[in-house]
Amino acid sequence: MRPRYYLVSACLAGINSRYDGSSALNRSLYSRFKNKPLLIVCPEVSGGLSVPRLPVQITHAPTFVGTGRSSAAKNNAKSCDGKSVWENKARLTSAKGKDFTGAFLKGCKRIECVLKAVKIKAAFLKARSPSCGSGFVYNRNTKTGAVKLAKGDGVFAHMLKKRKIQVKSF
Ligand code: SF4
Repeated sequence: MRPRYYLVSACLAGINSRYDGSSALNRSLYSRFKNKPLLIVCPEVSGGLSVPRLPVQITHAPTFVGTGRSSAAKNNAKSCDGKSVWENKARLTSAKGKDFTGAFLKGCKRIECVLKAVKIKAAFLKARSPSCGSGFVYNRNTKTGAVKLAKGDGVFAHMLKKRKIQVKSF
């Protein structure tokens, strides 16, 4: 019988994959998974991003209402999580507005290809990340620049949940 793997965020496993070059090693997870089949991934690095890299948050993608001179940008205030990024209603940007949405989604899609060949028992993901966060993620208001923790999943966690993979947040 094929083994079922535990999927773990690379930074939780002690790999220095975070934007600032650090890890988020979780020692209790480390001992819990000793000798278990693991799939350790960093969706942002899988998407081609470097370590270190600019910090990125999920931001509202403006919707244009009206036409011509009367058109106005309106923030999708309620659409600011990983699900809305997949639906093209939000973006992943740095504080100065550099858009990394393509790289984030590319990383998710690459790992999704691996998931077609590997059975996953459950995923253990780093909390609050715009990729791995589950339940809560940081987002940034493009008008005010304010960063806040809001309900929702990161882009990678959302993709896993859509595939019916159980996600636990650490
Ligand atoms: S939280 Fe996810 S995307 Fe961020 S460094 Fe850890 S594994 Fe990579």
